[in-house]
Amino acid sequence: MQCARCHRWLFKPAALSGGLPVGPICAVKLGITAPKPKRMPSLLGPRIVVRVDEDQMALFEGVAA
Ligand SMILES: [Zn+2]
Repeated sequence: MQCARCHRWLFKPAALSGGLPVGPICAVKLGITAPKPKRMPSLLGPRIVVRVDEDQMALFEGVAA
């Protein structure tokens, strides 16, 4: 299935424009659907950093690294 506007391949059309499937970006551009609210990345907020401490218990015991 392809977007009727930009001809990108779609798994599933976001909307139909004149009976033709359109992708989510084109649907927004055509004014069919409202854009999804973007999650505002907070520039000042703490970033989630995955840390592994040296003395942390091994997640997979018995598995030789
Ligand atoms: Zn499109």
